[in-house]
Amino acid sequence: MELANRVQTLTPSSTLAITAKAKALKQEGHDVIGLGAGEPDFNTPEYILKAAKQAMDEGLTKYTPSGGIPELRKAVADKLKKDQGLEYNENQIIVTTGAKHALFTLFQVLLNPGDEVVIPAPYWVSYPEQVKLAGGKPVFVKAGEENEFKITPDQLRDVITSRTKAVIINSPSNPTGMMYTREELEKLGEVVREKDLLVVSDEIYEKLVYTEDPHVSMAQLSDDLYGRTVVINGVSKSHSMTGWRIGYAAGPGEIIKAMTSLASHSTSNPTSIAQHAALAAYSGGEDEVMKMREAFRERLEVFYERLINLPGISCEKPKGAFYLFPNVKEAASNCGFRDVDAFVEALLEEEKVALVPGSGFGSENNVRLSYATSMDNLNKAADRIEKFLKTHH
Ligand code: PLP
Repeated sequence: MELANRVQTLTPSSTLAITAKAKALKQEGHDVIGLGAGEPDFNTPEYILKAAKQAMDEGLTKYTPSGGIPELRKAVADKLKKDQGLEYNENQIIVTTGAKHALFTLFQVLLNPGDEVVIPAPYWVSYPEQVKLAGGKPVFVKAGEENEFKITPDQLRDVITSRTKAVIINSPSNPTGMMYTREELEKLGEVVREKDLLVVSDEIYEKLVYTEDPHVSMAQLSDDLYGRTVVINGVSKSHSMTGWRIGYAAGPGEIIKAMTSLASHSTSNPTSIAQHAALAAYSGGEDEVMKMREAFRERLEVFYERLINLPGISCEKPKGAFYLFPNVKEAASNCGFRDVDAFVEALLEEEKVALVPGSGFGSENNVRLSYATSMDNLNKAADRIEKFLKTHH
């Protein structure tokens, strides 16, 4: 059976090969340390589990409105007001099956064949694929280390064509952990206004910020930018709820209406029980969220120090999320590897440390290490990487 053209152009996930290999080694009985995880290693907080169990017991197990239960949309509106001072009515919010499906649905309702979406690189692996699946064309702009993995207004201006529809801003970022300041966003916002663009603001790591600078959304900057921004967020990373699949989009009413209509023909609705769990998450205060953030902060401090003291490795200090994205080109070449992918493969084979090569994120000199694992594992991983570098030098 010949498959549709749209899936023929899908790029297989770069993380898959290394994850499969790590898994195979584990099954053979090796002590593998996985630093590839894209999810918090904490359990979902107890009060959230309780709310889900209660929802089941109360029979809240049926179809819900496609855009999500009104109480949850209201809770999301309250959250956006409290955290960011943003006013959204319930018709400007759709609850989705994870933030990923909010993005997927958004590109589906936004893009005509050939419409362009600007994606700063390094990028989260699903952006280009989702844009392509919607018939759009990803346009990459290099956000290099020399500018802390951020794009400049001039870079953005330079790639805009008559077909450019939107730009994705993911701050804090997966895979780099960088975060835009208010001033930087204001300058990018000027180009957005000038060129009449929409901003897809992926704020899924909003709660995991480790600097004095607050997280800022493009939607907060002016009424005009508010009207040009779709905020994407959810409970996956903030409340350690990756498996529950609850995210949301908040933005202009006509876009949210179209997304809701599309969702009614695809998912029908996000799981009812998970919606009640997310309602509890947003209604339950932030003690648990802050506890997890503090644990991440401690790990970042320790692991970052270890990493930058290794020969041939340099790293921008992340401001948020739970990833480090060091440049290991020199280390790889000092060790005699032809490229970073080969370095990553050998590190897994010999020292049993699993990292994700940066090539899949559009940055071939880097690797992504997740610190969503115990301090003990992080220290062990650093010891092993150190040993590996010494052995090959
Ligand atoms: N956006 C970014 C930048 C991510 O890293 C992820 C998850 O890895 C998502 C969106 C998807 O989040 P969710 O699990 O809520 O679909």
